[in-house]
This record gives sequence, structure tokens and C-alpha cells, in this order.
Amino acid sequence: MTKQVVILGAGYGGVKCALTLQHDSDKDEVGITLVNKHSYHQFITQLHETAVGLSNNKEIRVPLEEILDRARVRLIKDVVLRILPKDNRVVLETGTLDYDYLVVGLGSEPEFFNIPGLEQHSLTLRSLNSAKLIKTHIENNFAAFKENPLHRELLTIVVGGAGFTGIELTGELADRLHGLAEEYDINEKLVSLICIEAASSILKGSDRQLVDNAFRVLQEKGVRIITGTAIEGVTEKEVRLGSGEKIKTGTFIWTGGIRANKVVTEAGFTASVRGRATVNKYLQALDFPNVYLIGDNAFIANPTTGEVMGPTAQVAIQSGYAAAQNILAEIRGEDLRVFYPRELWRVVSIGRSVAVGHIGKKLKPTGRAAGLLKQAIQWKYLFSIGGLRLVARKLLK
Ligand code: FAD
Ligand code: NAD
Repeated sequence: MTKQVVILGAGYGGVKCALTLQHDSDKDEVGITLVNKHSYHQFITQLHETAVGLSNNKEIRVPLEEILDRARVRLIKDVVLRILPKDNRVVLETGTLDYDYLVVGLGSEPEFFNIPGLEQHSLTLRSLNSAKLIKTHIENNFAAFKENPLHRELLTIVVGGAGFTGIELTGELADRLHGLAEEYDINEKLVSLICIEAASSILKGSDRQLVDNAFRVLQEKGVRIITGTAIEGVTEKEVRLGSGEKIKTGTFIWTGGIRANKVVTEAGFTASVRGRATVNKYLQALDFPNVYLIGDNAFIANPTTGEVMGPTAQVAIQSGYAAAQNILAEIRGEDLRVFYPRELWRVVSIGRSVAVGHIGKKLKPTGRAAGLLKQAIQWKYLFSIGGLRLVARKLLK
């Protein structure tokens, strides 16, 4: 009998899973349903560009209809409200769905750590719409300053958290602010961009050379970087630091960390760090072997080295593929395959054309070379989730 596979989330992991099932199985064997709250997949890895107005809808959104075979994959545009793993059921805004196998790839949301005022008074960078809000907010503040020149805080932008998201956004903003000051006829010297990190260095956990290069490039772009002091409170007009310093700002963007989507944390799976569900070596939920967790929703460690993988698009794509393969193996009565995640590269873009990073353990490109590598990676993501058809579509734009 045809087995029903329901995939939640059309992110990097979910789309890869749907494409793999579509390609490697036939209709009588597997019914595939993909649920997503938008009709499109979004390139989250480029959101820092949208936040400064560089990448628009056409570049960031890929209609799901274009990359999936509608004869094989049933697309449901709806919001997932709850997962009921004991009942093999999912509750959507407009109804329920039953499944034989479930793949959960609903991605992350910001982690606010109960810091007073943080959630209420910050912008975040997790979706296309949140990126657009950042762009509009900054532009509105520049316009408002021309009407209220005593309010210098309207020209102060603070980014909280200097992980990869914070650094990519700060780099992009640093490059954009010059043009924005010109556009609004504002003296550039009045504009300031500050990035605050609680740890003793930016890009915590990355190798020294990468950190030093990123720090130097940002300083050259005029960014004030504060490390070793945490943000302890936020109000509508001010950010308060552990050091006692208070910074007046009209734009505060929180990039201080993420946790698994609330739907996942509320489903009753055994959770590890930041709500990410613990999975076995095949990516199955510990108490529910017919539920697979992928990408940012799973706490994934390399079974050989024990290394815990960060929530990244590359691991999301790898896990989406692996979950699809294991579901097919189960249906066919074959042995499941152990999932071996790999970090192939780490590249951070710092504004236009400049980046720093590493490929594997040895190659450490910086500057233009790394900038080109970052672009190549974006193309690789494009190819991974949409194949040649999607690459061609983008090239023709
Ligand atoms: P996502 O890609 O987040 O997809 C989740 C999907 O679920 C989305 O389509 C969402 O709309 C949908 N969804 C969420 N909730 C619901 C709901 N309740 N109902 C229905 N649908 C829902 N990683 C890299 O490896 N390289 C990079 O260069 C890189 N750059 C990044 C840059 C930025 C600015 C950010 C924020 C992250 C970056 N990352 C990068 C991390 C990477 O984007 C994530 O790890 C990756 O997107 C996770 O993939 P996923 O499939 O688990 O979830
Ligand atoms: P993160 O958790 O990696 O970084 C958050 C940073 O905020 C940390 O350095 C943390 O010390 C800091 N922080 C936390 N609380 C703070 C406080 N109160 N005050 C000041 N600083 C505070 O989160 P992220 O940067 O959003 O990255 C999430 C995941 O996405 C990571 O796995 C990352 O590798 C991935 N990502 C990758 C890329 C890329 O490959 N180019 C880009 C963006 C994100």
C-alpha cells in the first residue's frame, strides 16, 4: 500500500527531502505532501543582502511549484500549529493531516534568553519579511532624522550578537550606510554602526585567522565592535550593556542566537540544546521512529567524531537527503544508513565582494577569493535544491 510521507517546512532540508523522494521513488510506493507557510522557498543565506535592499523578491524567493513535480508532490500552503506524534497527526491552521512517516524541517526562531525588553524592542533577521522590515526601519529613521535633527539616535544602528548572522549583516550595513547617508543628504559622520558581542571575540568558535580577518575588515569599514560584554536590557530607545554602558539607538537588530521552531519544542520530542530534538544516528526522533527531524530542528552530532554540527544550510540539505533515503529504505525493508554530517566550508561575507573562510581544514581564502567562493556556495545551494532548471532560471533573470 502507498505510504504517506508528510514533510513540514520547505526550507533547505524540506525541499531537498521532497526532491529526493520525488526522484527516487514511484507514485504507488510513496505519496509526498509538503506543507509550508509560504508558496515559495526562501534563500535565508542571502537575507543580509535583502536587509540593505540588495536582493529583492525575485532573487530570494523560489516558487515551490517551479522546483517540484506537482504530479508527485502535493503542496499545501498552510501554517503548522501542532505535531501530535502519538497520533501520527499534524494540526494545521485549516485542518489536520495524517501520516505514515513525518519529516520535520520547520527551521529556527530567535532565542531571546529572557533578556528584559529584548523581544519587544528588537528587529531580527530570520525570514524575507523580517529582512524587509530592517531595510524599511532604517530608511524611515534616516528620513525622520531630517525632520528631527536633534535625535541623533535615529542614525545609530546596533547589531546585538557577532556570530555569523550578526557579522554578515554588519558588513552589509557598513557598505550600505554611505549610500544611504547620501540619499537622505545626511552628514555621514553622524551615522554610526555598532556590533556588540558577549564573548571575548567575534565569530566565536572559528579559527583565529578567520576571526582576525573579519575584525580587521569591519574596523576598516568604520564599525565599532564591542566584545566581552553582554547586552542585558533593551528599551525602545536604548541598549544596556553588562559593562554599564548605555547606547541610545533607533535601530536595534538582535542576532544573538536561535532556537528550534516552537512547534517542534512543543511536540514532546526529547530535546537537547535550544529545543533542537535529539535524534538517533538515522535522524529518527528517539521515541518515534517514524518521525525524522532535519536541519535546524535536529541536534546532530557526527557519529564518528562526536562533533556537534551547527545549524547550517549545508547540514540541512545533507539531512533532508538522508531522511528521504532512510524512509525509502524502511518502506522497502532495507537497512537504514547512518547519517554522517560534514562541514565542507565556512565562509562569511563581509559586505560586497569581501569574505573570509575556510574549505575543509586547510584552504583559508580571504578577500576577493573568498567572496567568489561565497558566490559559488550560493550557486551550489541553488543547484542542490532546484537542479539545473533553477540555476538556468536565475541566470536568465
Ligand atoms: P529553514 O531553511 O529555516 O526552513 C524552514 C521552513 O519552514 C521555511 O520555509 C519556513 O517558512 C517554514 N515554516 C516555519 N514555521 C512554519 C510553520 N509553523 N508552518 C509552516 N511552515 C513553517 N547556513 C549556511 O550553511 N551557509 C550560509 O551561508 C548561511 N547564511 C545564513 C545567513 C543568514 C542571514 C541566516 C539567518 C542564516 C544563514 N545560514 C547559513 C543558516 C541557514 O540558513 C539555516 O541553517 C537553514 O536555513 C536551516 O534550514 P532548514 O531547512 O532547517 O530550515
Ligand atoms: P550564533 O548563536 O552562532 O551567534 C550568536 C552570537 O550572539 C554569539 O556569538 C553569542 O555569544 C552572542 N550573544 C548571545 N547573547 C548575547 C548578549 N546578551 N549580548 C551580546 N552578544 C550575545 O547565531 P547566528 O549567528 O544567528 O548563527 C546561527 C547559525 O547559522 C550558526 O550555525 C551559523 O553557523 C549559521 N550561519 C552561517 C552563516 C554562514 O555560513 N555564512 C551565516 C549566518 C548564519
